[in-house]
Amino acid sequence: MRFHIHTYGCQMNVRDSEAVSAMLTAAGHVRAAGEEDADLVIVNSCTVRQKAEEKALGKCGNLCAAKGRPQIVGLMGCAVKRLGADIFKKLPKLDFAVGPRRFGLIPKIVADLQAQGYPTSRTGANRLELPDEDEIPEGLSAHADAPVDGGADAFKSYVTILLGCDNRCSYCIVPDVRGHEYSRPAREVIAEVAALAARGVKEVCLLGQSVLRYGVRNKAWFEEDPTLQYSESFPRLLAALNEIDGLERIRFTSAHPKGCTDELVRTFRECRKVCRHIHLPVQSGSDRILKEMGRHYTRAEYLAAVAKLRAFDPSFAVTTDVIVGYPGETEEDFEATRSLMEEAGFDNAFIFKYSPRPGTRAAALPDDVPTAEKERRDQVLLADQERRGVRRNQTLIGTVREVLVEGPSLRNRARWSGRETGNRIVVFEPSVPVAVGAIVPVRITEAHPQILVGELA
Ligand code: SAH
Ligand code: SF4
Repeated sequence: MRFHIHTYGCQMNVRDSEAVSAMLTAAGHVRAAGEEDADLVIVNSCTVRQKAEEKALGKCGNLCAAKGRPQIVGLMGCAVKRLGADIFKKLPKLDFAVGPRRFGLIPKIVADLQAQGYPTSRTGANRLELPDEDEIPEGLSAHADAPVDGGADAFKSYVTILLGCDNRCSYCIVPDVRGHEYSRPAREVIAEVAALAARGVKEVCLLGQSVLRYGVRNKAWFEEDPTLQYSESFPRLLAALNEIDGLERIRFTSAHPKGCTDELVRTFRECRKVCRHIHLPVQSGSDRILKEMGRHYTRAEYLAAVAKLRAFDPSFAVTTDVIVGYPGETEEDFEATRSLMEEAGFDNAFIFKYSPRPGTRAAALPDDVPTAEKERRDQVLLADQERRGVRRNQTLIGTVREVLVEGPSLRNRARWSGRETGNRIVVFEPSVPVAVGAIVPVRITEAHPQILVGELA
């Protein structure tokens, strides 16, 4: 069959979709050019905020409602786990629904449906697969064998290292839908990355909800080696990946501020391939709100972590997530967030308006910040960040950054675009021929809020 996957939500969903794509391809199916051209359409859903869930379900609803629908339509991801069997009340014509840690079953489900005559005749009942809290999905390490020529996947790959989350921040539904934390064995991750590097991948991004907890809940290293440079599991993993031939860059996301240890900071300094960027969601700058959220750090501890990283490299990129309008957030709490963002000097920030999620601790509190006020706080922080982004980027003017070339710039096809170690986008004129996936030195000449402009050095 020709298949197409629509992906909503975070990088973990992007990665899960890739794995499903690779498994379907291995089973003999082929990627369609788009949904119109597909016999099988899968929507990978997000439920972290109400709006995100509505988008994915809306898309799914439209696909199901199409007249004389020639397609099998399936839903995967976090919304499936949250809604369970109710999903078929909302979407009675949906063919199958598979929760986050069970996506490995999709090729089998598709084969079963085909055997039953789908999509021409719909004979079976709606099929629902809900994973257990501790389930380990099949196909976690599935990647497409032949990456699309010149496409981003030819030189960059996501690798899942940690499943689920045990943090239970008050507002967050992720632990309910993605289950318990589980660290994949280090040997398995190292083998996966080595295989990717052997086939030309230059950069990997290690994924997990809280990657700094790698190896904390369950053992990830099964042999003890006294010669290892680090004692903590995550720095150890980074150091092992740093040795892989052909691999040039290692990134990871997301990081919980509590895990920002001295050893991690040392890893950034000592492992050349580990990129100097951390996505360190702060959520709020008010100690009172941080406590209510159950984040387990204070404003001062957070700022100390940022200072440690910037102490050895002032251009170290720190990006964050912030929630505005958490229940009971006063003007004073909000101003504390504003001033923390200034003190931290974030390179980029994603601002989210609080959205109550059923079953979370915060959902029991009144959602008392009016929508218009959430919107205002959102806009204030975005405007601050825009100014701060330019200011941070201006400090790089005149310096030479190593840029991994990604392809022609989207806005101006005569220019090329890539990323430097801090994940900042760098656009430059290709004065000599450059290849996608190459690393080239670029001298920075202009700073904008979201991009740097430069010339080949
Ligand atoms: N595991 C990651 C975050 C995953 S969710 C981490 O802890 O770093 C991504 C972001 O969505 C969070 O950082 C938070 O800012 C936001 N978010 C989560 N739940 C939310 C909610 N109920 N309302 C608004 N934003 C939320
Ligand atoms: Fe959600 Fe907190 Fe876990 Fe992140 S660390 S996924 S915000 S519970």
